[in-house]
Amino acid sequence: MVYKINPEKCLKCGLCVTQDCPEKAFVVVDKATENDGLTLYTVKIDEHKCTSCDTCFSHEWWCPAKAIVKG
Ligand code: SF4
Ligand code: SF4
Repeated sequence: MVYKINPEKCLKCGLCVTQDCPEKAFVVVDKATENDGLTLYTVKIDEHKCTSCDTCFSHEWWCPAKAIVKG
C-alpha cells in the first residue's frame, strides 16, 4: 500500500512535515510566500522512505484537510 498526498485536497499548510512520521517521509518540495505573508508548502511523501505504517492516515489530527490517501 502506497501513501500519497492528494494535491486537490492539500491546503499546503506544512503541518504534516512537523508531525512524527517514524521514517521522516514527508518532505517539502517547494515553498512559496504569498503577498499576504502566508507561506505555502508543497509536500510529498517519499515513497522510498514510507513503510506504510499507517500512522499518518489513522490519526485524524495529522492532516487537517484529510489529504493523506492510500493510493
Ligand atoms: S498537513 Fe495535510 S493539508 Fe497540510 S500540507 Fe500536509 S497534506 Fe497538505
Ligand atoms: S505511512 Fe507511516 S512511514 Fe508512511 S508517511 Fe505515514 S507515518 Fe510516515
